[in-house]
Amino acid sequence: MLPLVALVGRPNVGKSTLFNALTRSRDALVHDQPGVTRDRNYGVCRPEGKPAFALVDTGGIAGEDEGLAGATARQARAAAEEADLVLFVVDGREGASALDDDILKWLRKSARPTTLVINKTDGLDVQAAINDFARYGFSDVVAVSSAHRQGIDTLIDHSLAKL
Ligand code: GDP
Ligand code: MG
Repeated sequence: MLPLVALVGRPNVGKSTLFNALTRSRDALVHDQPGVTRDRNYGVCRPEGKPAFALVDTGGIAGEDEGLAGATARQARAAAEEADLVLFVVDGREGASALDDDILKWLRKSARPTTLVINKTDGLDVQAAINDFARYGFSDVVAVSSAHRQGIDTLIDHSLAKL
C-alpha cells in the first residue's frame, strides 16, 4: 500500500487546487465557493523517478459541529488520523484565522506528523506570509502557489522525506 498524505485546512485555502497540482488531475472539485468538496477524494502523486504516494483531499473544515459542515469536518479528521503525513494548508493572502487556530488544535491532538503548507503565495512577500504563521510553531513549512505550480516539486520532495 502507498503511504498516505492528507490535505487538511479550512474551506477555500486551495486544498483541491493543490490536490490537482500534486496528482496532475482535474479530479478534485475546485470552486470559488467554500465547502464545495464534501467527501474524501483519493488520488496518487506519481513524481517522475521518485516513489509514489497516495493523497486525500478533504472537505473544508467548518467551525460548526452540526449538519453537513459537521459531517465534513468529521471526514477530514478521520482522513488526518489515518494519514502518514498531514499537509495543513493555509491561505498566505488572508493570513492566520480563528478557524486555522481551531484546526491546529485538533491536528495537535491527532499527533500525526504535520507540515504547514502556505498556499496562494504567488505575487506575495513569501517571508511576510511565513512570519504571519510563525506563532503556530511549525518547524516544517513550505510555501507554494498551487494555482501556478510554484513550490510543488519542493513540497513533493519534502513530503517524500517524511514518508
Ligand atoms: P479548497 O476549498 O481548500 O479546496 O479550495 P479550492 O482549491 O477550491 O480553491 C479555492 C479558491 O482559491 C479558488 O478560486 C482557487 O482558484 C483559488 N486558489 C487556489 N490556489 C491558489 C493559489 O495558489 N493562488 C491563488 N491566487 N489562488 C488560488
Ligand atoms: Mg476543495
